[in-house]
Amino acid sequence: MKLYEYMAKEVFADYGIPIPAGRVVWSPEEAADVAAELGGPVVVKVQVLTGGRGKAGGIQFADDPGSAREKAGDLLGSEIRGYAVDRLLVEEHLNINEELYLGITVDPANRCPLIIASSRGGVSIEDVPGKYIDRREIAIQWGLFPYQARAIAEQIGLSGKIAGQFVKIALSLYRLFREQDAELTEINPLAVSGDRLIAADARLNIDADSRFRHDYPATAIRSETEERVAALGLSYVQLEGDVAVMANGAGETMATMDILQHYGSGAMNFLDAGGGADMESTTNALRILASTRPRVLLVNIFGGITRCDDVARAVVQVTEEGCLQDPLVVRLSGTNDEQGLAILEEAGIPSFRNLEDAARAAARTAVLRGEEDVDGDSDQ
Ligand code: GDP
Ligand code: MN
Repeated sequence: MKLYEYMAKEVFADYGIPIPAGRVVWSPEEAADVAAELGGPVVVKVQVLTGGRGKAGGIQFADDPGSAREKAGDLLGSEIRGYAVDRLLVEEHLNINEELYLGITVDPANRCPLIIASSRGGVSIEDVPGKYIDRREIAIQWGLFPYQARAIAEQIGLSGKIAGQFVKIALSLYRLFREQDAELTEINPLAVSGDRLIAADARLNIDADSRFRHDYPATAIRSETEERVAALGLSYVQLEGDVAVMANGAGETMATMDILQHYGSGAMNFLDAGGGADMESTTNALRILASTRPRVLLVNIFGGITRCDDVARAVVQVTEEGCLQDPLVVRLSGTNDEQGLAILEEAGIPSFRNLEDAARAAARTAVLRGEEDVDGDSDQ
């Protein structure tokens, strides 16, 4: 569960991490008002649940309220990296001398928090060579000690007052990470501005399963698709590949993604329809996946409680509704699979009993459609 930058910065402020003065706005007029209140040059930042806004034109600078109004007008209603912009953060413009990076995440391999720091933060952090990045595992039973934070500061070349501020910020960030049940928190850049360190950007992803312990506004931070799936009580995860995946059960879903990878493609998202999905919830799930416009949709059902003929009927129904504009591949195995496969065959929908065959067909279709897009006749 991702928080918008402005929400993350509110949490940062609660933990004493310095942030620039400013606030979220929803209109060009408000943007001008905030610029007037701040009384100097401002930065106007789109609030979308993805990074890389700077490179995508989502960070603009304005010298006066009039220009802030104009920049806000351009940005509001635009799209940044596929996300509609409905709100902006208007902040004091910092004079940045240096951009540092500081982040804490969970290292899944070693099952512990990992603190990452670099003297070379900023929009190209992904390209910074490993030798400029300090990574340390934290023993979760002890937490981050001040001496460790000082060692990190020294390792990334800080000294004097700035090093002292860095230590405070790192300790606060670790406390925040633990208390807020974060999966990831990141300050990039952690800006050196004159003689102070300040979080110019803020990222905070909270473990969604801890939501009951906090009062984050869930509706404000889920995408539209995630909202719709949550309303159905199903699990949905957005990924970066090309194939929309519907499977039943977590293990089945994971296996589907692995096998897609094996055949040279990857999941764009997956929806776990759960163990006993009936026709109605299957139909709804398929409609949602169809609306994400994947290169291909792969349905992988191992029928136990779920009946394959129900799934087949749901697939046919959604196909007939016309909301499915992209190719579909179905694998059915288990309870009533014979009937299910017969229904699909009659409807002319590619279907398999074997997962390998279905995944290979889906991956091949995704790759072919990807090549068509490169040839320039993309309709997306
Ligand atoms: P991101 O691209 O989504 O990570 O957005 P950031 O908030 O990190 O902004 C991108 C870049 O814009 C930063 O790395 C800075 O170089 C620049 N930037 C953002 N805010 C300011 C500011 O107040 N002053 C200056 N000089 N640069 C800024
Ligand atoms: Mn950033």
